[in-house]
Amino acid sequence: MRSWLTRLRRSIPEPDPELWREARMRVPWIGALDTVRDARLRTLAARFLHRKTITPVATLVLDDAQRLQLAALCCLPLLEFGEQGLHGWSQLIVYPDAFRVNRSHVDAAGVLHEWDDELIGEAWESGPVVLSWADIQADLASPREGFCVAVHEIAHKLDALDGALDGTPPLPRDWQRAWARDFQGAYDALAREVDAGRETTIDSYAAEAPEEFFAVCSEYHFSDPALLRAELPEVAAHLRRFYGPSPFE
Ligand SMILES: [Zn+2]
Repeated sequence: MRSWLTRLRRSIPEPDPELWREARMRVPWIGALDTVRDARLRTLAARFLHRKTITPVATLVLDDAQRLQLAALCCLPLLEFGEQGLHGWSQLIVYPDAFRVNRSHVDAAGVLHEWDDELIGEAWESGPVVLSWADIQADLASPREGFCVAVHEIAHKLDALDGALDGTPPLPRDWQRAWARDFQGAYDALAREVDAGRETTIDSYAAEAPEEFFAVCSEYHFSDPALLRAELPEVAAHLRRFYGPSPFE
């Protein structure tokens, strides 16, 4: 069984070298990786393309180079965690731009509330990841401003792997305990600031819920690690261990 698996894995072709060179030029996070992690990401991106369907919708068309760049971006959070981070879902849907989603919720009194949200990314607990191509391009154009929507949505996928979307991905037990304590403390402190109406350096969206806190801090890890270290040193240390050093460290 093992040798059969090994053979199967070997049969997944590595990305075309020319397309990978282009990805390194177009995606600043890839261009900043050392050779060992660059090779690891290349292999992960090949697995991603093998296992996931990338579906552009509406007017969007994606060529092989763009598909490889998307796959590599989505695999950045898996550099240490590995390929098992891709489990549990199969489709990446890409909209040309931000997309509207109809939401509904029945409250305790039985009243149905409906509203529209404009989203740039979304990760269903056991369904597809949805991303806006325009917002990915904006991330690539300003990679050090604290935003990376692909990393955000994949962080949600990692979080959901243990069956609970709660801001804690699957970890060894001791680490999980320390993680939960440090993240909860930092989340509560940020939520207090936001509730008091004070300006926060960390994007206030992180105070929406513990899972959003984890996803937003993951974006900072990749795109503004110095700010994360200065504002939330314990959280930054956990994320550095979980994701490996930020390409921009
Ligand atoms: Zn989110």
